[in-house]
Formats: sequence, structure tokens, C-alpha cells
Amino acid sequence: MKLFDSHAHIGLIHEDPIEQLIVVQEAKRESVDGILSICNNLRDFFQVYENLKTASHVYYAIGVSPSEVTNPGKEWQNQVEEGARRERVVAIGETGLDYFRKFGDKDSQIELFIAQLEIADRLDLPVVIHNRDAGADVLDILRQKRPRRGAVLHCYSEDWSYAEQALELDLHISFAGNVTYRNARNLHETAKKMPIERMLIESESPFMVPASQRGKRNKPAYLKETALFLAELREMDPEAFCAQIHANSHAFFGIG
Ligand SMILES: [Zn+2]
Repeated sequence: MKLFDSHAHIGLIHEDPIEQLIVVQEAKRESVDGILSICNNLRDFFQVYENLKTASHVYYAIGVSPSEVTNPGKEWQNQVEEGARRERVVAIGETGLDYFRKFGDKDSQIELFIAQLEIADRLDLPVVIHNRDAGADVLDILRQKRPRRGAVLHCYSEDWSYAEQALELDLHISFAGNVTYRNARNLHETAKKMPIERMLIESESPFMVPASQRGKRNKPAYLKETALFLAELREMDPEAFCAQIHANSHAFFGIG
């Protein structure tokens, strides 16, 4: 069985370089043979990239998340473009909108989001999108500026009717550990109905730990539970399900 974790905040799981290596090696032993490392800020990107140089199964997204909107750094655009040209950097993100935690103001979040959609198009990279309480604006912006290489709505938390609109825009949808929670009916419905070709999975570690590990900090090694839960939900053979999702991830991020 092969799994690809399309969203892990390695730098938030551990700051220590050795611990970070242990996390990605442990994941490998639990069938996670590919991980997309998501940075919390640009400094974190360059640090984790350096720390995990020897881990060839780790890929990277680079971008400025909405949480950094009030202070992305003067040279952020140049840094993103420079970072994005490195080996195994396969996406721009995470970017998007977060109206829940009210980072900065809406206008500056939107400006930062659009600027990164433009960078992604210029560099011909797909986009990893964060949405919290900003669903309508996220879709509006993507309708006007459809990412050329596509985009994934990560840690999907909306319902099926939202997913239908996202699928019309050719978006991918990525499910995290919260889909395994018993009361997540909207997510179960969405995960069941959606075309499997557009589905990705992720740990969103250290957050969104799958049901059986609740109370712990999440890590990529726990991803299998989410995969098996989704396979059962869709009444699919687990091997076949995981093979399809793995292939989707490689195709979407342009790997191998
Ligand atoms: Zn994230």
C-alpha cells in the first residue's frame, strides 16, 4: 500500500531537524512514501527544506498563508519565486482566505491570495488552498482567476453542494483526519459522492488527528486510518482506493 500525504506542517510538528527527519522516516514505514511539506512562513520553508535535504520522498509547497498577511516580508514575492524553482518544490501554498481568525483585513487577504495565484500561473504550478469561513469569496476569486495548473481545497470542511461548485472549476478536494469523525455527516456525504479522480488525502499534521488517535498531536504516520476510512465509506477495496489516490497526487503535483 502506498499513501501520499498532500499536506503536512513538518515545521510545526517539530522544530528540531533530527526530529523532523524521524517524522518523515516513520511515515515511510507506515506506507506514506510521499509527503507534501507545507510551510508556516517563508523562514520555515527554507529551514525545513535544508533540514530534510536527504529525505527524497518529501516534496514542498511554498507560499504565504493568510495567517502571515500582516507581515509577509518585503521581499516575499521574490523569495517565493526563488524557492519555487528548487528541486521537489511542486506547488504554491498554502494560500487562500481565513475569515475565522480575522488575520489583517479581508482586502489584504484577498490581495495576497490573488498575487499567489498569479505566481503559480507564471511558474506553472498547482495551488494549495486554505479556506476557513470564506467559502464564497474563495470560489468567486477562483472563478475569475482559474489556476492554470489547478488547485486543491485542502482539509475540506464544506458540504456536497459546495463541492459540486468546486468540481465545476476543476478543483481537487483533499480530505484530512476530520473525515473520520462520526458526526462529520457532510464530509461523509461529500467523500462518498465525489469523483475519485479529484480526491486527495492529507494529514494536516499536527492538526486534525484521525479519530482513533484523538487527543494526540497528528503526524503523517497516522494517514493510513484516513485512507482506510475513506475506502470503506466508498465501499472500495483499500488497495485499489489507495493506489488511485496515490496516482491522483502524483498527477496533480506533477511528480515522477
Ligand atoms: Zn495547513
